[in-house]
Parts: sequence; structure tokens; C-alpha cells
Amino acid sequence: MEYEAVIGLEVHAQLLTESKIFCGCSTKFGAAPNHNTCPVCTGLPGVLPVLNRRVVEFALRAALATHCHIAAASRWARKNYFYPDLPKGYQISMYELPIAQHGYVTLKLNGHSKRVGLTRIHMEEDAGKNIHDAHSDASLVDLNRAGVPLLEIVSEPDMRTPEEAGEYLRSLRAILQYIEVCDGNMEEGSLRCDANVSVRPQGSTALGTKVETKNLNSFRAVEKAIQYEIQRQSETLNAGGRIVQETRLWDADREVTRSMRSKEQAHDYRYFSDPDLLPLTVAQEWIDTVQASLPELPAERRERFMQKYNLPSYDAEVLTTRKDVAEYYEAAVHAYPSDPKILSNWIMDGVLRVIKDEKLDTGLKITKWPCPPEQLGALVRLIDEGKISGKIAKTVFDEMHHSGKAPETIVTEQGLTQVRDEGALAVQIDQVLAANPEKVVEYRAGRDKLLQFFVGQVMKATQGKANPQMLNELLRKKLSTDHQ
Ligand code: ADP
Ligand code: ZN
Ligand code: MG
Repeated sequence: MEYEAVIGLEVHAQLLTESKIFCGCSTKFGAAPNHNTCPVCTGLPGVLPVLNRRVVEFALRAALATHCHIAAASRWARKNYFYPDLPKGYQISMYELPIAQHGYVTLKLNGHSKRVGLTRIHMEEDAGKNIHDAHSDASLVDLNRAGVPLLEIVSEPDMRTPEEAGEYLRSLRAILQYIEVCDGNMEEGSLRCDANVSVRPQGSTALGTKVETKNLNSFRAVEKAIQYEIQRQSETLNAGGRIVQETRLWDADREVTRSMRSKEQAHDYRYFSDPDLLPLTVAQEWIDTVQASLPELPAERRERFMQKYNLPSYDAEVLTTRKDVAEYYEAAVHAYPSDPKILSNWIMDGVLRVIKDEKLDTGLKITKWPCPPEQLGALVRLIDEGKISGKIAKTVFDEMHHSGKAPETIVTEQGLTQVRDEGALAVQIDQVLAANPEKVVEYRAGRDKLLQFFVGQVMKATQGKANPQMLNELLRKKLSTDHQ
């Protein structure tokens, strides 16, 4: 039997506010354990939460950027469970009345557009962290993260392949980064994703039993875990088994999912409205103000790049997925407006490739690359003006990457300017032809392919600095005229 996969993602995005959601403690990462805490976020009795207005503003930004309907009134709910990192015994979240519902994210995959529905977005507080490996005989609790604001963004079960799920997550992350509410770093846990996967017979419209997988801390993990689940579930059904609704954990080392617990039901959490917090009302004027303050979003920027710079859709997609990359690109085009497509190539195959190779991209900043965009513009200018060949440009680029020096400086210092002097080239060509008399004879007997051999030899002799067109022309001329 052939199965179709059905996938829905639940994403938790840590918000970039300065302080926590219900107290004034700092959200700064890296403080000494339990340093960023107070009676509110450590759950002491007799204290009351006070809502951080900025958290609501960030939720509104995210909701509007994903086309959600915003509730005029929403409600805080207590989600009750016991765990050592949750001193209050409940998490403040939203349940029946979330702040936003019915949105969507548009993703592009292999040239097609697809809308993935958003069921809801709500705000909630994060829990602390249990530390198990610091002591051999005890576990420790760090409450710095307790009370840090999160957005939970729940998608509809609209995705059908691991690639779609990955692309959805990339698109969502891009939006959150553009509107500056979340840094989107999956490795550090500021963006977390749980994947819900079920399978059903090809052609069926009913939903199968879903399995939730947690502990997905990279895009690769999300796609791999979904792939694994589709296969595991299909094989289980084909072997006559049935799927158990449960929560599983991704084991990144062994690349398998493992059963963690049977799936809890909503009623296990005894949700009820939090009596310490008023219902949240958001005035239409506030919504309008936030809407007006939204920056250009990735999808709009992608379209603009295609129109304004005449870029193929693929380039526009790669360049706009990250805000820092898009800004770098535009600054480079501004510095050298004549050739937007070539600049795009240099960013995609040059800058982004070396950043990836050196794993600089975990912090997601192209600004970590040593050369400012103006220098990339200057490099392309040197090529266009014929001062250096495309091949030499690669050498210059590597040197820019290592030393951060300007391309003109590198070309001057290393004497990389193209040889365009006919006389000088002719001397080199004569030497090469004189050193290879048999090959010259073969060429003249009709082995045209040998031209490339001669080109290569002269390039070698000039350390790649010969102007290619000029060299080709001169060589052809020499090889035929000398024959006459
Ligand atoms: P729960 O109550 O278990 O949290 P929800 O209905 O809230 O379940 O859905 C959680 C996530 O699971 C959502 O992203 C949703 O799209 C997805 N989902 C729901 N049903 C299925 C299914 N049958 N297969 C795959 N994903 C599903
Ligand atoms: Zn606090
Ligand atoms: Mg749910």
C-alpha cells in the first residue's frame, strides 16, 4: 500500500524582549544560574504577574505578518503539570481564546507556491531548565529561562512532504527575523519545533493517527525525523500493525525516533483561566499602528528583487530568506549597480558558501564575513572592466575572505592585473608553441581540441593573468598563419 504523509508543525519562538513576560527580570542569555530571577518567575506565593506590553506587541507583529485574525479579547490560561523546572506547578499560556487565529504562510518550493494555514498563535511563558550532567549525584535547576516569553505558532496539517515542512519552517523563521521578534536560532533553542506526522492511504481524505516528535534542533533534524516517521508508520501499517498516538524523541546520533510517552490529552492539563490576569483586550488602533510599522516582508522583498534587479526566482529566494543577506546584497548593488545578477552569483556561490563551510552561519550573520558589501561590488567592477579575469577573481575573493583586504589592494599587491598587452602575450605563445612542436603538428592535422591545451599552457606561464579572449584570438591566428 502507498501512503500519503500529513504533517503539522508546532513552533515555539523565543521573543527578543529585554525582560520576561510577567516580571522585570532580564532575558539575557548566559547569566550565572538563577541570576535572572525574582519572586514572580520562581513561583513564590503571594506575588502577582504583570503583563509585559512589548510581548503583546511582538505577538501582534507576528500575527499580522502571517495574516491572522486578531481577537479583540483573549484569555490567559493555566496549563497545570508538575516538573522541577516549573516551580509554580503551572505554565501561563492561552488555551480557548488565543490572541490570533486563521493565518497562513506562503512558501515556495520548486517554483510552486503553497499556502500553509496557521491554526493559532498564542503567547506563553517558558519553563526553566533542569541540568543533569553537572553533578554525578544530583540534578540542578536553573530558572533563568522561566518566564521568558514565547510565541507558540501552530500550523494546520497542510504539509505533505519533509521538504515542504522544512520550507515552511524556513519561511516562518524568515518572517520572524524580518519583523525582529525572534532571532530564529534553532541550535540555541530560540526557535523550537515539534513535528506531528500521520500517514493515510493514497487518495484517502480521512486523517490518520498522528505521532508527535520532539527534540528537533535543526532544519536537518526536522526533515530527517519526518522522513523517518513516514517510513516507520508506513511499514508498521503494511505489516498489519497500528499507529499509537504518542510523543517520540528524535535521536540525532542514530537518526531514529524513540517512544518517550503516551500522548497527553488536553484534559490532563486541567486548563482554566488564570484568575491573576485580566482578559487581554487589544484596541483596533493598536493593531493599526503595529500593521503600519511592519517592515517589508520576505515574500514582498523577493518579488521586488525579481522586478527591480531582474533576478531569477531562485536567486531572489536565496537572497531574501535572511534579512542580513538581503541587506548585504542591496548594499553591494548600490555600490556597483551595473551587474546585479553577477553580484547575486558572488554572494550565493562565494560569500554564503564560505560562511557555511566555516560554520559561521549559526549566528546567521553575513556581517561576520570580513568584507563589506562595497568590496564585493568593487570585485565585480574589476572583472567587468577587464582588469582581472573571472579566474583571478576567485583568487582575489579567497584573499578577501582571509585578510579582509579590498580587492584593488590585493590585485596591486600581488600583481594580478590581466595581461592585455599583445606583444607580451605573443612572446609567451611563441615559447609554448616552440616547446610543443608535435602538438602543433597534431593541431594543424585537425585535432582542434588541442587549442585548449595551448590556452592552458599560456595561462600557466602567465599565472592565469592572460586575458582569455585575447589569448584565444592570438593563438588561433598564430597556429594558422605560421602554417602558411
Ligand atoms: P494536540 O491536541 O495533540 O496538541 P492539535 O489538534 O492541537 O493536537 O494539533 C497539534 C498539531 O498537530 C497541529 O500542528 C496540527 O496541524 C497537527 N495535526 C493534527 N492532526 C494531525 C494529523 N492527523 N496528522 C498530522 N498532523 C496533525
Ligand atoms: Zn522574574
Ligand atoms: Mg495542541
